[in-house]
Amino acid sequence: MGEKIDFAANLANVRAKIAEAASLAGRDPRAVTLVAVGKAHPAERSRAALTAGQRVFAENRVQEAAAKWPALKEQFSDTVLHLIGPLQTNKVKQAVALFDVIETLDRPRLARSLATEFDRSGRQPPCFIQVNSGAEPQKAGIPPQEADAFIAACVNEFALPVAGLMCIPPAADEPSLHFALLREIAGRHGLTGLSMGMSADYEIAIAFGATHIRVGTAIFGSRPPLTANRD
Ligand SMILES: *Cc1c(COP(=O)(O)O)cnc(C)c1O
Repeated sequence: MGEKIDFAANLANVRAKIAEAASLAGRDPRAVTLVAVGKAHPAERSRAALTAGQRVFAENRVQEAAAKWPALKEQFSDTVLHLIGPLQTNKVKQAVALFDVIETLDRPRLARSLATEFDRSGRQPPCFIQVNSGAEPQKAGIPPQEADAFIAACVNEFALPVAGLMCIPPAADEPSLHFALLREIAGRHGLTGLSMGMSADYEIAIAFGATHIRVGTAIFGSRPPLTANRD
């Protein structure tokens, strides 16, 4: 690759834009957590971002995170690592041990499996419920029309620590419609966390109340092509 990236400059740039978007929306910029998405990049890039002061990160594959993060977390013990990719129930144990926040809770079977592992391990990472706001068949997330019942079940039946909602709008849509929908559903349940907005649209997401924005490309540069394996 050989791409030379100034992580400190990229982070400063994103932080300045967060501050501006928050100020325009009459919000405190400290109410917006920048989650740096290092997926598909070598660990050295995450290390460089850590050195530049960034502490909240996300990965979308359990396997990749397991290879990258234990060593980095040992060195930077105040790191907070989010899972933002689909979670298979056979990886729940590993995911709960590794991640500090799970953003992709999206079905009853996974809710049950997480509740069991939380009891067993004593670890209780806060969870975001992923809503498939565009009802796209290929995308993970609970469909919007099932979201209310699923949120209630996660909170009441499974007693999970639900911190908020997360969405990934369809690439071709106007993202603000999805951000507004997510905010509306969260409001009905008194949930305060809204994980929404990526490199292309995080400023819009902040205007709609995002508390967590997930930014990859604007910090780490373009990603190498993903391999076919998934977890
Ligand atoms: C990759 C990814 C991001 C970051 O996307 P960028 O456009 O590179 O900022 C955010 N959220 C999720 C769920 C992702 O998979």
